[in-house]
Amino acid sequence: MVLLNLFSLCHGKLSLTGSLYNSSHKKPFQNKSKVSKREDPELCETEGHHPHPIVIVGAGAAGLAAAAILIDVGCHVEVLEAQDKIGGRAFSFDTSSNFPGVDGGAHYVLGGKYNSIISSLLNILELPPMVEVGGDEVYFSKRSSLEMWMSTNSRKELLSNNEIDITFDIESMLQETLRVVWSEWSASVGTDISIAHGLKSAFARLPEFSAFTKATIAWHHYLKFNYSLGAEPALLSLRDFMDTNYTSFYKNGVANNAIIRGGMQVIWDALVEKTGMVVQTGFQVVEIREGPHGVIVRGADDSEIEASAVIVTVPLGVLLGNGIIFEPPIENLKFGNMSTLGIAHVATVILKYNDNSFLKDSSYHGMGYISSNEWLYYSNSVKEGYKSPAYETFYLTESAAREIKNVDHTVVSNKFEKILNEIHGTDAFYPADAIYVSDWNTNEFFNGTWSYVPVGANSSARDVYAEPAFEGRVMFAGEATCTTMPGTVHGAIASGFREALRIIKSPSRWHVRYPSMNIPCHHTL
Ligand SMILES: Cc1cc2nc3c(=O)[nH]c(=O)nc-3n(C[C@H](O)[C@H](O)[C@H](O)COP(=O)(O)OP(=O)(O)OC[C@H]3O[C@@H](n4cnc5c(N)ncnc54)[C@H](O)[C@@H]3O)c2cc1C
Repeated sequence: MVLLNLFSLCHGKLSLTGSLYNSSHKKPFQNKSKVSKREDPELCETEGHHPHPIVIVGAGAAGLAAAAILIDVGCHVEVLEAQDKIGGRAFSFDTSSNFPGVDGGAHYVLGGKYNSIISSLLNILELPPMVEVGGDEVYFSKRSSLEMWMSTNSRKELLSNNEIDITFDIESMLQETLRVVWSEWSASVGTDISIAHGLKSAFARLPEFSAFTKATIAWHHYLKFNYSLGAEPALLSLRDFMDTNYTSFYKNGVANNAIIRGGMQVIWDALVEKTGMVVQTGFQVVEIREGPHGVIVRGADDSEIEASAVIVTVPLGVLLGNGIIFEPPIENLKFGNMSTLGIAHVATVILKYNDNSFLKDSSYHGMGYISSNEWLYYSNSVKEGYKSPAYETFYLTESAAREIKNVDHTVVSNKFEKILNEIHGTDAFYPADAIYVSDWNTNEFFNGTWSYVPVGANSSARDVYAEPAFEGRVMFAGEATCTTMPGTVHGAIASGFREALRIIKSPSRWHVRYPSMNIPCHHTL
């Protein structure tokens, strides 16, 4: 653990631009805590020694989580956010707009109620419990409510229950064989291979299946890896997939999914509200440099804030694109490690229908589709929890994800209408009443969707990324820095907690207070 130096006592210039997201000072995060900040002010390392704030760059899950902890223990915190809204890659549409409570980015709480980070947060913030919607549990034990569509160039249709069963049985065999392939490969050759390479070798060891079955399995892998890990299997590291048990933190290996009532945004709004956090929106940080008495954070309009410490939570794509200049520069070793990580390109298209009569009554259904040019490949819709109107979410990957932003909305809507009717064999679908197309890949404040480990790279690069710079005064958080739970909301939150705990004097007290949120981001912790 790197401890901050005690900084000098000079007053810094505080010059703010943009607007405050929420300046109201209400109840603290842990308002029921027996340890209030007044009773125990020395909890914050810098409190009482230095008047400069701890600056958090980015108001996504990581930044807001870090800020909440620091405020909880009595630190002076400023959160700077480039956009005019908070939540980052887990923002939801405003309830007064076209898409009430619908998530633009992250949507599923992986593990559902077993996700102790999000469950505890909802509890502390006095928010209603999440809505369980299935996910892996539906896949593996309640298949009757799962709808799967299969697509090849010649066949686009719903799989029968028998075909679904066969698909999953073969999938299980394939996963086991993949493990054997990997252990033999790593013992004999020792290098990494791609997931696609591993799957091909595993398939070769299994008895022949029909062309349809093979195509179904191929579809399933595209769906699974392309969406859940963010890149096609040919780009993904098999070593990382085998080494990282992405669901280990969900107790008992159950990986049921859930959604937040009202969307992810209600968590961020409640965090700001309950802590009295000040978020400066419209403040794009362009430079972080060493100052005479602390760290200087410069905005795009040249205004500057002097900070005692800085936690940088912007996405990896922003840092690799030099969206923030560091002076002195981030050392080569660190930057080199960060550069080995991949950045996924996934885009979301959300269609809103005022009439939801075409949806089934099941609380969750998913379907997959690969068009010949891979224009789209996965969709799901949630009726339960949203009732009416209904939403269909489609995920696009790779080049389609980058290009979608330039396609006219009417064209997008018509294309999806055609595909849905083709698959369903009906004309029940009509052009959507409203449409949202995400811009994760073209927006300079994201430059991609989430991080992944490409073939040949190593997840330990995330740990190097997470090492502090500027002799411990500049810290890094965000999903890409969380080795155990990357690319997730809870991973981002855990990374924010991790960096906040570097700063405060007695992190163990926090661990005792919130044991269920104390999930390490680092394999060796
Ligand atoms: C389409 C999509 C679907 C997803 N689905 C899920 C899911 O179902 N479940 C799940 O757990 N996770 C999911 N994720 C991943 C999850 O959303 C992210 O891992 C998590 O939200 C990242 O949080 P963060 O704090 O690390 O980064 P962010 O949320 O990106 O926050 C960083 C913030 O920094 C701001 N910023 C950028 N540059 C600057 C600058 N120069 N100055 C100031 N501020 C700046 C950004 O505007 C942003 O608000 C999904 C992501 C996407 C995009």
